[in-house]
Amino acid sequence: MDTGLTEAEEFRGYVSRWVDERLVPQAAGLDHAGEFPHELFRELGKLGYYGTMYPEAAGGSGLQHPYTCFTVLCEELARGSMGFAAGVCMQGSTATHTIFQWGSPKLHQLYLAPALRGEKIGAFAITEPNAGSDAASLRTRASKVDGGWRLNGTKIFTTNGTVADFITVVASTAPGQGAKALELFVVDTQSPGFSVGRKLDKFSIHCSDTAELAFEDVFVPDDHRLGSDGGSGFLNAYKSLTVDRIFTAALALGTGRAAYEAALRYAKERSQFGQPIGKFQAVQFKLVDMLGKLEQARLYTYHAAALADADKPITTEAALAKIIAGDGCNEVCQMALSIFGGYGLMNEYPAQRFLRDSYFPMVGGGTSDIMRLVIARQLGF
Ligand SMILES: Cc1cc2nc3c(=O)[nH]c(=O)nc-3n(C[C@H](O)[C@H](O)[C@H](O)COP(=O)(O)OP(=O)(O)OC[C@H]3O[C@@H](n4cnc5c(N)ncnc54)[C@H](O)[C@@H]3O)c2cc1C
Repeated sequence: MDTGLTEAEEFRGYVSRWVDERLVPQAAGLDHAGEFPHELFRELGKLGYYGTMYPEAAGGSGLQHPYTCFTVLCEELARGSMGFAAGVCMQGSTATHTIFQWGSPKLHQLYLAPALRGEKIGAFAITEPNAGSDAASLRTRASKVDGGWRLNGTKIFTTNGTVADFITVVASTAPGQGAKALELFVVDTQSPGFSVGRKLDKFSIHCSDTAELAFEDVFVPDDHRLGSDGGSGFLNAYKSLTVDRIFTAALALGTGRAAYEAALRYAKERSQFGQPIGKFQAVQFKLVDMLGKLEQARLYTYHAAALADADKPITTEAALAKIIAGDGCNEVCQMALSIFGGYGLMNEYPAQRFLRDSYFPMVGGGTSDIMRLVIARQLGF
């Protein structure tokens, strides 16, 4: 199988330089401010990174290994700031992928092309206050009216929600009838009846924007419904969310790497009992275990990305990547924090940010246990 590593490693060189020069120096400040970093977000758009997954005809980069390269982008950005990377990941994957795959040329022109240039911000909203893991039970209703649909309901935890120009919303044409009644609608946030309920204050990924959204009789034209066949909304959302798990694994990997590298440096610099703490076997063993977990996460995440590039089934592999990288990198970040001792708890050191942020990949896009459930189904249960 062609793993795409040559193209991807060249791509990594460019992203990595930008991360070191532009993102790493600002990461602690962004975390402290807790605001969406508009300037950096636009800058990345001008550099063309939101188009990593798309062909040139759609305004994208035309890469040979788009999934592997987008995985690299997520990993490298999360090495700098997972909060920033989470917003970028949403913009370059689910928020635009659904429109790219199932949107009309008009929607491509209105939303996809400007989003890939970083001129418009996208979001994807399926989760509701009473429908998280059980997404098919969602209650946001789409009622058919002349020329379009009226949407009513509430969404929660929407990444990029307060800053989005457009949002792909999953709504039900017959609430209570489960997955088969779900459809995807592209909502322009200028539409009357749309409002941001509130911006959510979080423990983790502070500079990623997370919102509760309200839809009150929001009119959505017929041509803003994704997928012309009707009734395939859930399947389409599911396909996008499945590949997205690989990118969430990459976010975990990036932050895990940052935590490991910081702890390794610290273990060589910090002395106690007359020698660097890295001379103590207990600290060395932690660092070796961290390296092992990162390697597992890296190998498996890129294995899943290579399968996606080869157009092979990825349901099990993407979910496994998210478990291995999500849970594994959270453990890496816990060990990193302990190597920093008391300084690990101080905000002037990054270990606490890495650990806080490492909880996001274990929840976003489905919890680790829901990933286990997905895999168990593939095993025939
Ligand atoms: C920072 C952040 C950003 C997010 N961004 C987005 C976004 O952009 N768009 C969007 O639509 N959503 C988004 N989400 C939502 C995310 O996908 C959900 O939080 C996640 O799917 C879990 O849903 P829940 O929070 O309602 O938890 P629940 O579903 O209430 O789960 C609570 C607990 O019960 C467990 N559980 C539930 N059902 C089962 C089961 N059948 N078997 C075993 N255990 C079970 C879960 O594993 C978990 O431990 C985001 C979430 C966060 C935290």
